[in-house]
Amino acid sequence: MSKRNVLVIGDDPQLVDFLTSRLLPSLGCKSLSARDYSEAQEQINYHLVSLIIIDAQLNNGNGLHLLKQLANKDNLIPTIFLTSQSTDKLYPEGFPGDMIDVVKKPVEAGNLTKSIQRALTVSHLAQEKETLNQQLKQQIEWTSVLQEVGRSVTSTLDIDEVLRRIVEAGVLLTRAEEGFLALLDHENGKLYLRAAKNIADDQIKTMRLPVTDSLLGTVIATCRPFRSLHTKDDPHISVSTGFLVHSLLHVPLVSKGKPLGVLSVDNRSSRSVFTESDEGKLLSLADYATVAIENANFVQLVQQEIDERRRVEQALRESEERYELAVRGANDGLWDWDLKTNQIYFSPRWKEMLGYKVDEIGNDPEEWFKRIHPEDIERTRIGIANHINDVTPHFENEHRMLHKDGSYHWMLSRGIAVKEDDEYVIRMAGSQADIHARKQAEEKLLYDAFYDSLTNLPNRALFMDRLQNAVERAKRRLDYIFAVLFLDLDRFKDVNDSLGHGSGDELLVIIADKLKSGRRSMDTVARHGGDEFVVLIEDINDISDASRVANQIINDMAKPIMFKDQKVFISTSIGIVISTPDYKSPDDVLRDADIAMYSAKANGRNRFEIFDPAMRESIIRRLALETELRHALENQELRVHYQPIVSLDDGHLVGFEALVRWQHPVHGLLSPIEFIPLAEDTGMITLLDRWVLRQACNQMQAWEEQIKIEPPLSLSVNISPKHFNQPDLVVEVDQILKETGLDPQRLKLEITESTLISNIESTNEVFANLQSLGVQIQIDDFGVGYSSLSYLSSFPIDALKIDQSFVGSMMEDKNRMNIIQAIVQLTQRLGVGVIAEGLETQGQLDHLLSLGCKYGQGYLVSLPLDTESIQVLLEEISDWGKILPPWQSSSKAKD
Ligand code: C2E
Ligand code: MG
Ligand code: MG
Repeated sequence: MSKRNVLVIGDDPQLVDFLTSRLLPSLGCKSLSARDYSEAQEQINYHLVSLIIIDAQLNNGNGLHLLKQLANKDNLIPTIFLTSQSTDKLYPEGFPGDMIDVVKKPVEAGNLTKSIQRALTVSHLAQEKETLNQQLKQQIEWTSVLQEVGRSVTSTLDIDEVLRRIVEAGVLLTRAEEGFLALLDHENGKLYLRAAKNIADDQIKTMRLPVTDSLLGTVIATCRPFRSLHTKDDPHISVSTGFLVHSLLHVPLVSKGKPLGVLSVDNRSSRSVFTESDEGKLLSLADYATVAIENANFVQLVQQEIDERRRVEQALRESEERYELAVRGANDGLWDWDLKTNQIYFSPRWKEMLGYKVDEIGNDPEEWFKRIHPEDIERTRIGIANHINDVTPHFENEHRMLHKDGSYHWMLSRGIAVKEDDEYVIRMAGSQADIHARKQAEEKLLYDAFYDSLTNLPNRALFMDRLQNAVERAKRRLDYIFAVLFLDLDRFKDVNDSLGHGSGDELLVIIADKLKSGRRSMDTVARHGGDEFVVLIEDINDISDASRVANQIINDMAKPIMFKDQKVFISTSIGIVISTPDYKSPDDVLRDADIAMYSAKANGRNRFEIFDPAMRESIIRRLALETELRHALENQELRVHYQPIVSLDDGHLVGFEALVRWQHPVHGLLSPIEFIPLAEDTGMITLLDRWVLRQACNQMQAWEEQIKIEPPLSLSVNISPKHFNQPDLVVEVDQILKETGLDPQRLKLEITESTLISNIESTNEVFANLQSLGVQIQIDDFGVGYSSLSYLSSFPIDALKIDQSFVGSMMEDKNRMNIIQAIVQLTQRLGVGVIAEGLETQGQLDHLLSLGCKYGQGYLVSLPLDTESIQVLLEEISDWGKILPPWQSSSKAKD
């Protein structure tokens, strides 16, 4: 612990000397002394005093009076009062008992030592508490101010407004008396004032900021902050503004390593100095200012494009409209300001534009300024001052004016100063034009350039710009970490297909709102395109912050959306990337986030994955698979396996489902889950399905001819939605049946619910045509899609296959059991067949039977088997009477 300061107040030289030279040093304290109130107060102002010892006999008994004076202060310091009187009622009211101790005189060293040690402990604890409270208060204030600034950086395109708020925040957070922000004009090397706080108008006008000035110049040249350290002997620093200040803090605005300007705060009358923490705060604000300026530059690019378009339009019209324009020009309001008398003339038109009659507005300049929008006033005043000071050749400013009806109208004010003897400005005159319609059109154009028109979220262009800034900042500042979340809604295509694109769009808007509502204002949620969204989370501590956000999003999404009286369930897969200084461009960051998202999809959807470089490998593998799949057909690498389907009550084999596999030369036998989605994405699925159909029909016919089985076995083949929608499907099926000789009655095509709903009319027609060939239609994976049960009766289907997820969890989940029961009852009512998929246990079998389910397939009966194994099975079953295990073994057991 550093030495504690103890202030001794007294005028008895012997006592004071005993305390300050002997007792206090022996206790490890640093002693200070004072003889009266003003000396005491001065010591307290300059030192952190932990304890006061007052002699009651001071100035012939004035010690008690001094104690009372000190007690009036807000910040109480523990005090020991030395007195020879009785200790009753010695100290003033309001002085808390635990803050004062009374020691009897003559002073007894032992007593006083104990008292001092006790008081120092009290003082230490009180100071500690005070420090912690202060830190907490500052932290809260800092966070909320920063959030406010962050919000303005991301929510407004008006740079002056943002800079004004940043200067305000700077002054507030550093407890400075005034502050300003000035930007460097790289062409002439001068600094221009852009925003100021607590600097009076007349001073703004005379403010000169030469870069050659030693302090500002050094800050600009080195791109490093300057902070004056207060010394008692040198109370004033003369700064470039021509003022004297006690303390100041300049921080540079730096973009891509180059100086943009300075943010500065100072104290002219207060003696407090700026701390290192103030410097950190101002640096963060300078960073925000840099981002805002970079954003504004980006906006300016688009603005230039708009201007260029307007210029071309203007040029076209100019020739024939010159005369008309002149007349229209006269429609502007006029003003004429006499600076000597400070009276201003406003033309009747000027007043009329604001909704007033001639006599309703007087000649005071305030009639103008008080109607300017508060966010525009500072800019207007700076604009006028810059022209008066010859910084600009004329005054021109766009600002909002309060109309009599209470609304604000955008106006363009222009003016020019008139000088007397070419020196002093004595008059200024100009015009006011109504630019409201143009401003609104521009705002809309700007908005459309940066925002997605459907969801109103920032679009990809704006997102990439913000990401670019984040990447730059992460390169500069090691403590700045950001993360990007790449979201892709799961199976949103099915939603679009089943509910229609119009509803899909409406859902996207709801989802966008959901996404936005949970985020901090400083983060950017943007629509990347289609059903993809991206989120930029800035200033985080580590990856756990990003995964927490991802988890939140996934949980928010899990809540069903009530949409047109239906509950719609949407989930999302999220890829996360965390910044490293190595990222060179925003594209690289987004690419990795996309890869991570991809991996979240591959790992089962409705989850997030954090990017790691190994993921790139798996993408490469997928790309390779894609190319290889194209050759798999020609190279005869595809195989068809067959899974038996049985009648559940007696185990009779009734048919097979054909399931494709890929015998990959390197990766071995691949499951369809690994390549069917790929084939669907690339459009190869139609070729693949057709190949499986032909192969399976051929094989069934071959077995039929080899081993006669009565009644003949059925063959189920999966048809993907894309394939089903091919116009020549019926012709193709007919042709394959004829080619292979398979009886059409034996073929069952399996389609999923989403196929069913995509286009009701054409689907019904295809069904009718297939059924007229004799082919049957089954709905596969029933229960996991989006179709409502009532829907089903409008289709002439032959059977439903209950999805294996229901069967798999029916024993543990009563709900699932109920759903199966409902599906079975539905099939009975509709008069169609029902087949359970994924039958794995005897328990499931018993329950399915009791619910009335007639047919099933699953590992309990048999895995899907290759052609040779099925051949063996078929040869054997004539002995078993077509009964498969487990029935076969139990019937054998009975024998
Ligand atoms: P699916 O049509 O629902 O086929 C049933 C899936 O369940 C098969 O997976 C099968 O192996 C598996 N399965 C069978 N019994 C059980 C069981 O008791 N427990 C469990 N957990 N699973 C069982 P597989 O062969 O991996 O096929 C997956 C999906 O790929 C198929 O689901 C089907 O949608 C698709 N598919 C397979 N072959 C083709 C094809 O030729 N064309 C098209 N378009 N899709 C196909
Ligand atoms: Mg199937
Ligand atoms: Mg299925």
